[in-house]
Amino acid sequence: MTDMKFLIHGTRGSAPNANKNFLKYGGNTSCFEISTKNQQIFCDTGTGFISADLFRKTKSIFIFFSHFHHDHIQGLPFNLALFQEGKDIVLTSALTNQTDVLETLQKYFSGSYFPVDIFATLNHLSVQSFASTLKKIKDEITVDFIHLNHPGGAVGYKFSSQKKKVVILLDNEFSDQQENELIYFCKDADLVVWDAMFTESELNHKKGWGHSSIEQAEKFSLKANINKIVLCHHATDRSDHHIDCLSKNIRSPGVFFGYEKMSISL
Ligand SMILES: [Zn+2]
Ligand SMILES: [Zn+2]
Repeated sequence: MTDMKFLIHGTRGSAPNANKNFLKYGGNTSCFEISTKNQQIFCDTGTGFISADLFRKTKSIFIFFSHFHHDHIQGLPFNLALFQEGKDIVLTSALTNQTDVLETLQKYFSGSYFPVDIFATLNHLSVQSFASTLKKIKDEITVDFIHLNHPGGAVGYKFSSQKKKVVILLDNEFSDQQENELIYFCKDADLVVWDAMFTESELNHKKGWGHSSIEQAEKFSLKANINKIVLCHHATDRSDHHIDCLSKNIRSPGVFFGYEKMSISL
């Protein structure tokens, strides 16, 4: 029986790109979903979140933010199900405390940046502490987190059911200093989402930008004994054709590029 289902709603890094050359892998920014019998758990609400089906009448919905760069939050108020009747939607992050999460999101979605204060309008959006959120979902899923190497900070999450482990490592600039800790965190995972914004040669000019390379994923996959690595956070201008070309250089069968609406049953 399927333990949990993983679904990608947004693969693009930094900014959405709506263009005919981006239809295969998708132009929407980061949003991932893990669904269980009773819960929908999202990691980030980039523009991919807009097209996610929210089962607000039948499932409890939780949103975990890796960090608050705009490509990880900008889709939040555009999912129409947010404006319908249903259960509360819980928002949280291990990156910072409950007050900071609310203040950061409320600032972005009100006043100078957005026409409507969504937290004043939608009472069912409930920002809660990371610890209290874990208690609510623990019957089906446990969540661990790790601090990542990214300007302004970001956290990776490990979502574990009884039998399966999914790790989302966005956004992260892989470094030798974090390797041991990261291997320990991801060891034997069934699925890891990897920040594959750059190629190795591009990365030479993008040190300190906070992202990893496609090639690093293959090496890491072997070291941490990962079953599948899904490459995501595609560079904003990386066309379908370019990703198809880069795919041909990947040797490991368990390492592949993620595309919008890719679904993996675990
Ligand atoms: Zn990002
Ligand atoms: Zn970021």
